[in-house]
Amino acid sequence: MKVALIGVGQAGGKVTERLAQFDANMGYGAVQGALAVNSAKPDLQSLEFVDTQLIGADRVNGHGVGGDNELGAEVMQSDIQEVLGGLDGRITSSADAIVVVAGLGGGTGSGGAPVLVHNLQQIHDIPVYALGVLPGQNEGALYQANAGRSLKTLAREADSTLLIDNDAWHEQGESMDGAFDRINGKIAQRVGLLFASGEAVDGVGESVVDSSEVINTLRSGGISVLGYASEVAAEDASDNLRTTMTVSRQALLTGTSLPDATQADSALLVIAGRPEAIPRKGVEKSRRWLEEETDSMQVRGGDFPLDSDRLGALVLLGGAERSDRLEQFMERAREAQNAEETETDRAEALTDDRLENLF
Ligand code: GDP
Repeated sequence: MKVALIGVGQAGGKVTERLAQFDANMGYGAVQGALAVNSAKPDLQSLEFVDTQLIGADRVNGHGVGGDNELGAEVMQSDIQEVLGGLDGRITSSADAIVVVAGLGGGTGSGGAPVLVHNLQQIHDIPVYALGVLPGQNEGALYQANAGRSLKTLAREADSTLLIDNDAWHEQGESMDGAFDRINGKIAQRVGLLFASGEAVDGVGESVVDSSEVINTLRSGGISVLGYASEVAAEDASDNLRTTMTVSRQALLTGTSLPDATQADSALLVIAGRPEAIPRKGVEKSRRWLEEETDSMQVRGGDFPLDSDRLGALVLLGGAERSDRLEQFMERAREAQNAEETETDRAEALTDDRLENLF
């Protein structure tokens, strides 16, 4: 699937850069163009492999919007023509979709991404997806509240919102900065493989995935989730039946970007590995298992020829919003927002005009 990527905010820019690099290093050619947009100039200057666009310079002078996602939304809306103009050359007629990438807990990405998606929808016929990163549980209340509002709006505006929970691929005891780097690598590999799997690949396996199958899996809208797992494989397909089932199960049950999301309207199962090592029967069995496990009406599938001694399973779920984890997150965001409002009320207690000043 050929995509144009636009990263908004710091996390959005960093993840977009990793995705563009992964695609170029692997030689997949799925990423048609990548642009990073931010109101903070230093964040843009640290990116090397993507084009950049500063927004909001007249309001915040390149210093960013802090954690103010309403300001993030405003500066995106004010400079929307520059951003859309900066994309012209990238959204060639060969792009199958546009993907807007952002961390949802901050300011620029949180507020700017939904505004950008909304505007892109007005002028492009191809699907506009969001790739949104949810803050980890131990990030502060402002991040949770910001992410809740941002996600609600993104889910309304985007054709589908692929969610990555920062706690999902975070290892215990790891510092958050070290973790971000590793998580970004994982996002790049998994999402990069998803984009590439919808491309015609040389060395063709028996049934390669077409980009329309990715798009159809995401057609139900709402939230989508991506899972991945891999294991060392045997030489012959006939010895890899169990491995194919194991990686498929792990991809869904322990490897998804939003833990516990197993219910979906539709799913796509891509088995990646050397074509001679992929067992047809194992793939069929895994697909049927996935259909039952996710309760979905449609499980699409295909191979992704990859010259590797491992066998990998990539699972994409579309319409996966009936998840406990998501419900818990929205609850956390609502509580955080209420707490913020109480704080504001307290701050305003001294200026409450139901009491009169002495003079
Ligand atoms: P913005 O620049 O104002 O959009 O805000 P940031 O992108 O800095 O932060 C928004 C959220 O993104 C934070 O709450 C973190 O959860 C997350 N985040 C920040 N940097 C990274 C990163 O490099 N990788 C990942 N996965 N998440 C990040």
